Amino acid sequence: MATRADTADVESAELPQGSRYDLRSDRSPDAPEVENYSEGDGAFGYAHSYETGSTVDGPGVRITLFLSGCPLQCQYCHNPDTWKLKHGTKLTLERVVTRLADFAPALRAMKGGLTISGGEVLLQAAFSRRILGAAKSMGLHTAIQTSGFLGTRATDDYLKNLDLVILDIKSGDPETYRRVTKQDLAPTLRFAERLSEMGKPVWVRFTLVPGLTDDPANVAAVAKFVAPMKNVEWVEVLPFHQLGAFKWTALGMDYTLADTPPAPPELVARVLGQFRDAGCNAR
Ligand code: SF4
Repeated sequence: MATRADTADVESAELPQGSRYDLRSDRSPDAPEVENYSEGDGAFGYAHSYETGSTVDGPGVRITLFLSGCPLQCQYCHNPDTWKLKHGTKLTLERVVTRLADFAPALRAMKGGLTISGGEVLLQAAFSRRILGAAKSMGLHTAIQTSGFLGTRATDDYLKNLDLVILDIKSGDPETYRRVTKQDLAPTLRFAERLSEMGKPVWVRFTLVPGLTDDPANVAAVAKFVAPMKNVEWVEVLPFHQLGAFKWTALGMDYTLADTPPAPPELVARVLGQFRDAGCNAR
């Protein structure tokens, strides 16, 4: 049961500005575990931080909001401090929307908008739906970045206020996908098919990790699945790097990729070639 003091804390909490590479932990120690989370009407949520001036999370110049909580456990995650809700700051919807409104004129002028990322944005589907609705009413372009694992939570009503889905397809081979994420690939593929049927613009992202996701057959499976989808504007190949490694250590988590090198340019070129040969716009 929330006390009056708890409620006051949430109402006064500010959305932390920063970077996806800032470490956050234990901002909301009483938050539920991800498996037990049921969020209600989205009047409040948990967020890691927001970043201004992003040019990589959708068209134009954007604000990217990183929500907390994720049901996947990717071996290469740069933000393991977004896995648990408790690591994020508990905030009211009103605070987030007020902050967004401060930036809205500049974002419109720079032909950008809002991207909500994570963690997994669809874990907090009600909270993010209401933020996206507010962003749309400010005339902003809206995007989410998601693994698609919880794609069924993105109802048609949710998607109505969304201009772009940046969909991580982390592997094409189900066994590799499970090794990478500890979850099943199928929900992501079903979500991608639904977005394709609707004609919703999608950018697919594929993180290229030497020795983990780089097998030619694994890449070919993603390429073959995506190539016929006319709504997919881009396939973006993201070379693995070690910028988030320190977070694993700081959180006392077992980081299995400590000795994995960054993806070299010739490997990136080979994988881009595979996507292009299959008929994808890849970059
Ligand atoms: S889906 Fe994203 S936030 Fe979640 S574990 Fe994977 S890389 Fe990290």
